[in-house]
Amino acid sequence: MERMSKGLAIAIRSEKRKDSDRMLTLLSPDMGLVKVISYGARKSIRALKAPLYSEGIFSLERIGQSDFWTIKDVDVISTHERISETLESSMAAALFSEIVITSRSFGPSVYQTYCKALDLLESFGAEASAIAFFVAFLPLTGFIGDWEKCPVCGNEYSDDEILGFSASEGVPVCHRCDTMSEALILPPNARHYIKRVQEVGMEEAMELGISDMQRHRIFRYFLRLLKLSYPGKLKSLESGVWDIFVEDL
Ligand SMILES: [Zn+2]
Repeated sequence: MERMSKGLAIAIRSEKRKDSDRMLTLLSPDMGLVKVISYGARKSIRALKAPLYSEGIFSLERIGQSDFWTIKDVDVISTHERISETLESSMAAALFSEIVITSRSFGPSVYQTYCKALDLLESFGAEASAIAFFVAFLPLTGFIGDWEKCPVCGNEYSDDEILGFSASEGVPVCHRCDTMSEALILPPNARHYIKRVQEVGMEEAMELGISDMQRHRIFRYFLRLLKLSYPGKLKSLESGVWDIFVEDL
């Protein structure tokens, strides 16, 4: 068992523990999720803190034989501090973290996609950034993300096809494989936009023309899709906090 570890990581979740300690969850391209304890009350134990969403080179030391680490040093690359300026971007970032943690998909591509999404949140709207993240991230889970053919029957979607959803598979499907009586549909123009986002990549996607109304509909579609794809697992979607912005979720 390694005692020390040093490498690139980003703080994706911060939780309170007893005695004003905090547990920080780091996402590392090599190590996946790493649990770090920041001691609050017991100041005799010297450990550095890193704010939520900071990316950097972390030097970590393992606590005894446990799976927990403390931070010995951090060379910060970005703090992403502008995310906390609006409630929407804070909520979006928390949702991205939750999806990464829940999906248990890690590795360099997940890491890059997550960091890029936080970068976008600092400069663009939460809904546009979130759509770019969902479109790039979901295929990495090996799960959702084929917008050209139905993952259940394998049929290619026609240009004007309205997608349905398979509750058993947890994925968007062609209208024939729809098991939800069109309760979660994706119209063709929305699907074409999603395909375009996938083709051009996350940054370029910010330049694609789309009305605020259409963007909001697609954002809302993804939130409902995620709720169905990870049933009961995404607490921020279950808790209703998103209903402030997204009525009728
Ligand atoms: Zn099908």
